[in-house]
Amino acid sequence: MAAAKPNNVATRARNAARTARVSCRASRNNSVNVATQLDWKSLATNMDDLSPIEIMDHALATFGDEIAIAFSGAEDVAVIEYAKLTGRPFRVFSLDTGRLDKETYELFDAVEKHYGINIEYTFPDAQECMDLVREKGMFSFYEDGHQECCRVRKVRPLRRQLKTLKAWVTGQRKDQSPGTRAAVPVVEVDPVFEGLDGGEGSLIKYNPMSNASSADVWMFLRTMGVPTNKLHEVGYDSIGCQPCTKSVLPNQPEREGRWWWEDAAAKECGLHSGNIAGQEGDDSAGEEGEKQSLYDSVTEMSKADLEALATDASSRPEKGAVGVLYAPWCQFCQGLEEDFEAAAAKIGATGEDVKVFKFRADTEREFSADKFQLETFPRIVYIPGKSSTNAKPISYLSEKRTVDDLLTFTKNVSGVEARDYLGFTK
Ligand code: SF4
Repeated sequence: MAAAKPNNVATRARNAARTARVSCRASRNNSVNVATQLDWKSLATNMDDLSPIEIMDHALATFGDEIAIAFSGAEDVAVIEYAKLTGRPFRVFSLDTGRLDKETYELFDAVEKHYGINIEYTFPDAQECMDLVREKGMFSFYEDGHQECCRVRKVRPLRRQLKTLKAWVTGQRKDQSPGTRAAVPVVEVDPVFEGLDGGEGSLIKYNPMSNASSADVWMFLRTMGVPTNKLHEVGYDSIGCQPCTKSVLPNQPEREGRWWWEDAAAKECGLHSGNIAGQEGDDSAGEEGEKQSLYDSVTEMSKADLEALATDASSRPEKGAVGVLYAPWCQFCQGLEEDFEAAAAKIGATGEDVKVFKFRADTEREFSADKFQLETFPRIVYIPGKSSTNAKPISYLSEKRTVDDLLTFTKNVSGVEARDYLGFTK
């Protein structure tokens, strides 16, 4: 563990924190993403030699109750201990995938009692779990790869949780995996997920343990008398879900005990997929391990049909068409999936003559740019109804994309009201 730092470093940390606090206040007042207010890359470089407690103090001082620690039920309990040592209030959340070991649940309980806290548990969507298990059985990940199950049980619940925050704290360390974690910075703009303000760059991610080694962490946990997961005593280093975790040999990289039947480069469950080169959540994001379709409950539009809708008013429904132009590998398109499908269902339930569609646009960039001014994914568009013979497609450019936002947009442009003022489906 890094030793206490000399005064000049502490001063630098205080100055950095002061700068960030000023920026965050500005962002709250003006609803501007925190990430746009500060050079987080430079800050990460400046903070790289700070101790975990200094980094944690910076995080909590900057974001207050809009930051929370992600606790997996393993040795990242050290992060909670550091938060306690700052003397500042802190929040902890955890994803209960429904497939954890008994020992992990026991650790959750012990941690709540030890620190006098209530962990904010997040669960997967019950319907999605039922659909997956009924269709593919309990252990589909051994045959299809872990991405699909992780997406349902971890990534989507995490995405929902992070949308309530402006920053989060993880226990990631560089030494956990030479393949995927070797370059984890102490703080970064989250390359994958959105925060409370919505949109790219709206979430900050602190990794205060980045430069600590496994030996550092264990020395610290023993010294502080912190509760730990009993599985660590029988050879488990990195602990996740029971069916996807096994013990490792001494000196074996700890992430090799996770999804051992898969290639090392794919060993992120989606929670930290930005660690994998080419999965930064932008247009250059890779396709490895990612689902190739999105918005499964929404009708896919062909290019020919979409071109006809955009150019020939007589082919349109009375009330027009609402659609999303997407790329399946785009993290922001994935983030929109749940809300877009819910909005589509509500619009469909009105019985009005309005079409809801999706169009895979990454393979038709030129066409999409020409007809819909597509620049980034996702692009939500409205194509006016049959009677508006001269009207052009309308783009929804806001980064607020909840069900309510989408239904309000639909009402404003088409007149189709899919909810009453209390938000119920009509
Ligand atoms: S770690 Fe395994 S059981 Fe847990 S969510 Fe991922 S694939 Fe499913």
